[in-house]
Amino acid sequence: MDREKYGLPAIEGGTPVRETNIEYAHQDVNDADVAAVAEVLKSDFLTTGPRVAEMEKRLCELTGAKYAVACSSDTAALHIACKAAGMKDGDEGITTPITFAASANCMLYCGGRPVFADIDRNTWNISAPDIEKKVTEKTRVVIPVDYTGATADLDEVRRICDEHSLVMIEDAAHSIGTFYKGHHIGKIADMTTFSFHPAKTITGGEGGCVVTDSEEYYEKLMLFRTHAITRKQSLMRHESPGPWYYEQLDLSMNYRLTDIQAGLIVSQLNRLEEFSARRKAIVARYNREFEDVPQLIIQKEHEGVDATRHLYVLRLDPLRLSCDRRRFFEAMWAEKVICNVHYIPTYYFPYYEDLGYEKGICPEAEALYDNMLTIPLYPAMTDGDVSDVILAVKKLCAYYGI
Ligand SMILES: *Cc1c(COP(=O)(O)O)cnc(C)c1O
Repeated sequence: MDREKYGLPAIEGGTPVRETNIEYAHQDVNDADVAAVAEVLKSDFLTTGPRVAEMEKRLCELTGAKYAVACSSDTAALHIACKAAGMKDGDEGITTPITFAASANCMLYCGGRPVFADIDRNTWNISAPDIEKKVTEKTRVVIPVDYTGATADLDEVRRICDEHSLVMIEDAAHSIGTFYKGHHIGKIADMTTFSFHPAKTITGGEGGCVVTDSEEYYEKLMLFRTHAITRKQSLMRHESPGPWYYEQLDLSMNYRLTDIQAGLIVSQLNRLEEFSARRKAIVARYNREFEDVPQLIIQKEHEGVDATRHLYVLRLDPLRLSCDRRRFFEAMWAEKVICNVHYIPTYYFPYYEDLGYEKGICPEAEALYDNMLTIPLYPAMTDGDVSDVILAVKKLCAYYGI
């Protein structure tokens, strides 16, 4: 062990690797982004105007999808996607527990019940064979999440959905900039949703979007984005008595995105390649440095995936460490490297407990949760910041390694 080489961890009384904290994620907003927002503020439209239309066009170009529907968040996007898929009382939907709660909550909003499939041991993404085991008569949707920016075996998920007539909704909150078998994410699922929260690769402050090739889903998504209100005669029940007329056809929300946010998202999309290249370079360096550290297990990518990662997650090997994840986590913070944990299995939450979910449903996911740690990853990190993170991880592995 290289205990001497790295010195005592700060939590054990040593000197921290850094003098100031480094966060696990941070947005990157430059002068061009600020100018784009200022321009919208001085324009005639603050919501659902030309910037929203431009953002939707840009997402169609990026993904190759025919239609895009911008909305106020990915949570909103997932909700209207489930509604468009026809999710209703008594239906089931299959997703992973290693995700943000929104991936499952969207089914509950529609009266459906989330069913959790376990993760693949190597990619930490939803396991296609376990999806197939959990399909029942009641299953309507399958929601794979591109965890950290990498994906599941999407072709196989697609095959399962086709075989059982299920709607595939891909939660691509993490994976803008990711390619699967040569194509940008967004063409495999029936609907693919994105998030523009500040921790994600591209931000609008808040924001989301659904892309689809289906005209039928597109019309429904447009309706559900705005109270299920329409002015289109082809959709209305009654003959329009005049130009003021519109109809509400169903019950939905106001999930519109402002032009202010869309302006920021369009400007950020101009920087996607730059962000993607930097994220990939940092991930490649982390992988190189951590690959051979016996205390660490790194995430494997499924064949054909060229990921732009939103998160970098390390898995600790508890058999090779004298400390638990909590101690390691706190020791990282003491080194002034701010870590996080993505994610607590969704069904651990009290709300889900009250719905009758119990621990033990997905053993692989639970074992990952017990030993995982998200370390800093964002484009504005300097090479020195990246070195500090690597140094802190290696220092703790050397000290606590057995
Ligand atoms: C961030 C995130 C969401 C929610 O996105 P919002 O835009 O904050 O609503 C949903 N799913 C996953 C996997 C996420 O990481």
